[in-house]
Amino acid sequence: ESMGLIYSRLNNPNLEVLEDRLTLWDEAEDALVFASGMAAIGTAILAFARPGDVIVHSEPIYGGSDHFLRHVLKEFGISIVGFPAGVPFEGVRPALEAAVGERPVACVLVETPSNPTNSLVDIEAVAAWAHARAQERRAVVMVDNTFLGPIFQHPLAFGADLVLYSATKFIGGHSDLIAGAAVGPKSVVGPIRVLRTFLGTMASPWTGWLMLRSLETLKMRMTAQMKNARYVAEFLAEHPKVAKVHYLGLLTENDPMFGVYRRQCMAPGSMVSFDVRGGEAEAFRFLDALQMIKLAVSLGGTESLAEHPATMTHADIPHDLQRRMGIGAGMVRLSVGVEHYEDIIADIDQALGAV
Ligand code: PLP
Repeated sequence: ESMGLIYSRLNNPNLEVLEDRLTLWDEAEDALVFASGMAAIGTAILAFARPGDVIVHSEPIYGGSDHFLRHVLKEFGISIVGFPAGVPFEGVRPALEAAVGERPVACVLVETPSNPTNSLVDIEAVAAWAHARAQERRAVVMVDNTFLGPIFQHPLAFGADLVLYSATKFIGGHSDLIAGAAVGPKSVVGPIRVLRTFLGTMASPWTGWLMLRSLETLKMRMTAQMKNARYVAEFLAEHPKVAKVHYLGLLTENDPMFGVYRRQCMAPGSMVSFDVRGGEAEAFRFLDALQMIKLAVSLGGTESLAEHPATMTHADIPHDLQRRMGIGAGMVRLSVGVEHYEDIIADIDQALGAV
């Protein structure tokens, strides 16, 4: 006899409908919705990692995920080994293997494109490496697909075992909810579902209902935002007060990650980071001068947002590590919304004028 929907912590009708629909984008067997992106990431990792295990992860990753790996898991006897995103995996593999040694790797957490630098990781190469390691348990390769998914990147097709989302961002899309999702085969999602039941990290039915509304416009929103971001990135690339623009749409054939971009991503998305010439003072002047674009740490919503990763989303990471990860003092991260692109550019232009 099937148990049915006996209690909302196990599941409820709104979440079930939403989970069924979320499987479609990533062509997955199963999906789970969580109370936040961090709830999805934390529950998924704790379902597989045990004391003594190692978690391999790309760098940089979202500051909250970085804190969870670096500080929270340490208390449980789980250690981490990072490898840099944005360079071919073959080049970083020897150092990674030396750092891991013979210890069991429970999970690999890849964030691609990475927050906030938009650096890429070759999912296929990392998954092949992790799965080829001879050990009793198969390492679970998880990809945080928040920046491009579920429309413009499908990690399961490249050998990942699980796709994770902060659904607060593009999936929710209106900055009015907080949620997360995990999508993958039943064999991987099953143990996470059990832990979600006992940690109680599922989303509420009301959040599920709001997300069903959001899914109806997901593709339109992400497409409109991506088109706007292309104009914004091109404008920034030409601006004399901008030292560098980190945007996938500006990658050229001679970039070592261009091949990965063409294979793995269907579009460049709408996250644009750039380095203001100078440093923190210049970046702050720019952010203070913005009039339409709001200063806020979230992303992926219909409205354009700007933030300063070094002192906001990634403030927990020590300065020297930030610099090694490519997060400079002058870096600004933009989440481009659905406004008219000329309005977005006009605001950026006048704010750069204040620098
Ligand atoms: N993953 C990425 C890439 C993020 O940017 C964020 C939040 O900014 C998270 C995960 C965490 O998601 P949430 O804030 O919904 O817990």
